[in-house]
This record gives sequence, C-alpha cells and structure tokens, in this order.
Amino acid sequence: MSNTRRRVGVLALQGDFREHLAALRACEVEGVPIRLATDLEAVDALILPGGESTTMAHLMEPALKQSIQQRAAAGMPVLGTCAGMILMAREVQDGRPDQETLKLIDIGVRRNAYGRQIDSFEADVTSAAIGGPAPAVFIRAPQLTGRAADVEELARHGDQTVAVKQGNRLALAFHPELTPDRRWHQYFLSLNGERR
Ligand code: GLN
Repeated sequence: MSNTRRRVGVLALQGDFREHLAALRACEVEGVPIRLATDLEAVDALILPGGESTTMAHLMEPALKQSIQQRAAAGMPVLGTCAGMILMAREVQDGRPDQETLKLIDIGVRRNAYGRQIDSFEADVTSAAIGGPAPAVFIRAPQLTGRAADVEELARHGDQTVAVKQGNRLALAFHPELTPDRRWHQYFLSLNGERR
C-alpha cells in the first residue's frame, strides 16, 4: 500500500503527540490522534509519544489499553519514543508502583536513568536501520536494563542500547520527532507489512 493511503494513530492524551503528527505529515502519511479505544479502529499502526509515561498510563482508559494490546498481538506495528518506550516495556524500574505498562516489547527499562546532571542532551545516533547517523534528542530518557534474545539492537549511544526492535515493534529511548530528520519515522513506516 502506498504511504499516502495509510493511517497511523498517535496516542494523544499527553506529551509530544503533535510533533509525531507533524512528522507523519512530512512523510505524507495521515496521522490520527488516538484517545479512545474506538479511535484505534481507523488506523493500521500506532505511535506512543514522548511525555510522561506515568501520566499517559493513568489517562488511558482500560478499553484503550486492551485494544492496543489486541491490535498489536494481531500484527499492528507500534513505535514508542522515550515515555512511549517505557509504555511498551515489559518491566519498568523506578516507575510508580501502580504504573502498568502495555508489555508490547520484551525489554526492561529504568526511568530517568541518565541522572540529573545530564538528564537532557542531543547527540548523533548511528544506525544501519536509517542508513547512518541522525540527530537524537534525549530528555529524561530511560535506559535498558535487559532485553529478550529476539529483541534486536538497532542503535547505541555510549555504552547504552538506545533503539530496539522486536518484530514490527520499535522502541527508541530518544525523540526523533523533535528533530527535522524523518528517517526513523520512515523506517517505522517501512515495517508495516512485517509480522511478529
Ligand atoms: N521521564 C519520562 C517518563 O518517565 C520520559 C521522558 C520523555 O518522554 N522525554 O515517562
């Protein structure tokens, strides 16, 4: 299917969903804000944005969580950036005790793991998936504490794994949506046909 006919949902409860919608427009794909379970029916893929994972988890109605999990299990591609990566993770350290994640990718993460001194920074992150280096914005980013054998590392920064893929699910510790470079979004859109 051509890019122009696809519709990609962006969880739009909190965080930088507008930037993801703008990134999709730049890729000539229709972005659809997702707030309720029924909104998900109109889309073929989903982006979980950056923001505050505890707040987003809190604002998601139970039916929406369930629909996301069901659609993902049926093969819908999902991209999570920063807080979105945390929402996708199977395990979270330093989350809130009641912070339930969607468990869409078999990784463990630690929230706000870079510490206060360097909690936000911009760096070039290189990945074969996007054909070279691209600017990446890290804001109170999570770090990986572990990953299952079939979770592929797509990029590193320093000694940290900062981009991972499991089937057609992609999780980034940084925010490609806050840069003008659209290659991570294009890479995600290219995963659409793939099945887990
Ligand atoms: N620290 C945030 C969280 O725990 C993530 C920050 C971000 O998305 N930039 O959800």
